[in-house]
Amino acid sequence: MWNTLVALHRESRENWDDARRAASIHYSEKMDEFDTLQRSITLQKKALRQARMEDGSKTGETPRVKSEYAALKRLFQESKNLSADLKPLRKDADGKIDKKALKEAYRNKCKQAVSVKNCGIYRRTADQIHANFRTARDKAFKDNATMRFHPFDGTGYFQFRCGRRDSKTDGITGDEFMTASFRGFMGFAVQGIDNSKKKPRIRVKAVLTGGATKANKVFHDFDWIYHRPLPPDCQIQNGKILRARVGDKFKYDLVLTINVPVSEVIPPSKLNGTIGIDIGFRRSGDTVLVATVMTDDAVQPPLEVKAPLKMVSALEHVIDLQSELDHAATDLGKAITPLLLANPLPDDHPKFKLWQSVAKRPSFVTLSYEKAYKFALWLNREPDTFPKEITRKVFTWWRSYSRKYREIHNRRKKQLTHRKHFYRQVAYDLVAQRKLIVLEKIDLSRFAETKDKDTKLSNKARAQRFLGAVSELRDAIKNAADREGVPYIEVNPAYTSKTCSACRHLNKELKAEKKWDCPKCGVVHDRDVNAASNLQQMGKRYIETVEKENKKVLE
Ligand SMILES: [Zn+2]
Repeated sequence: MWNTLVALHRESRENWDDARRAASIHYSEKMDEFDTLQRSITLQKKALRQARMEDGSKTGETPRVKSEYAALKRLFQESKNLSADLKPLRKDADGKIDKKALKEAYRNKCKQAVSVKNCGIYRRTADQIHANFRTARDKAFKDNATMRFHPFDGTGYFQFRCGRRDSKTDGITGDEFMTASFRGFMGFAVQGIDNSKKKPRIRVKAVLTGGATKANKVFHDFDWIYHRPLPPDCQIQNGKILRARVGDKFKYDLVLTINVPVSEVIPPSKLNGTIGIDIGFRRSGDTVLVATVMTDDAVQPPLEVKAPLKMVSALEHVIDLQSELDHAATDLGKAITPLLLANPLPDDHPKFKLWQSVAKRPSFVTLSYEKAYKFALWLNREPDTFPKEITRKVFTWWRSYSRKYREIHNRRKKQLTHRKHFYRQVAYDLVAQRKLIVLEKIDLSRFAETKDKDTKLSNKARAQRFLGAVSELRDAIKNAADREGVPYIEVNPAYTSKTCSACRHLNKELKAEKKWDCPKCGVVHDRDVNAASNLQQMGKRYIETVEKENKKVLE
């Protein structure tokens, strides 16, 4: 439907232009000039891109890129002047045409296109698309942008709100959601829960398409895997059904937005003490240390939170696969690039861009396995595009690696979920102790550093980096704490690892050593344990201050 509307919009634009041209010869002449200029701008943009690729430079470092860029800038200026000249002419032409009729014609066509009879979409969804389209169109007029067609491959989403029939505010309870019927709750209803499987399934009946009466609605039954139980007392605000393509099938996801009532914050006097959490990943034997935890419990040794071995080895397996694929794709790239360059596609070929991105890579960029996969996928469909030699090489690669590519893709997704669950479990265990939680504030500069070096890391190090998503764990802890009403504070991380937790001497000489002796009192420190211990002590002092002055002052 979107594409129909875009087509109507374009048609209407042309009709307006034709009418203006017919009304004013001056406008028509200037407009021709303007069109020619737009075409040369497109060509100039192409030339600039070409120069950048061949010189391997993004910024205007080389004289060629510089001059191409200057030429483009000149053209832009010209176009700006020309459109200023056009304005009064357009206004003049607008005075002579029948604006009302043109608008009316466009509006009527849109109205027809949006009607349920013509578009076959559920009415509220159609209205929503139309509303989105109108907003986008207004914006396009304002920014002088073009409205684009969207290719539709069957993926998309359907959004709904949850509310009681006679209530103005959104939100229903989990129980209401599970028992709601179509009568009170149009579009979507839970039929029951199937507990016979390992993960329970929610039986859902949903309206796919249809009009105002029940007779012309299309219903569908869904079996939804109940991944995460709804927390008690939650309010379901709205939901989204997402449809994605998996091979030649569709996969549906139901995502609910819920409101969990925030528990009242437990006062310091009712807490069990403090807990310092130093989040920071470090290699530890075959696994990864995710955080070091120190409590005020003297008998309890510092707790080291480590990623499960199974998770680490699964991850390493994927990364090994990835680099295997990368090597193979690099070799393929080396083999086919000269052949592809000798067999160029015409500019207007639908896959010209893909060909360009494979064949005309700058010399320092190797062919990625994602791109190789995409290229091979297309050649599978149109194997006669290139001479046999190229096709044979690509197919050999495809036969050996396409399954591995899909395997990587699926495993990678699963690992993100596993990591999230692992972090949630860690957070839950920490919060369950009902102690004041002390965390370090995020130090963004540290992330920038690790990110730059990413490509130089070994496979093992990459696996460890994946497991140490610092901010994700921090957020998991904060969320769990908010839910349970356990307070947390964030402190400046400047000196937590450099201060001696025994005598509070600041050891400025300390760099990245894992173990160190305090020059003042001689205590031997483990860097992470010391940091966690300092955090715990800061929390203790914080509680003392609060209790003494009975107001929140952070030292
Ligand atoms: Zn000391």
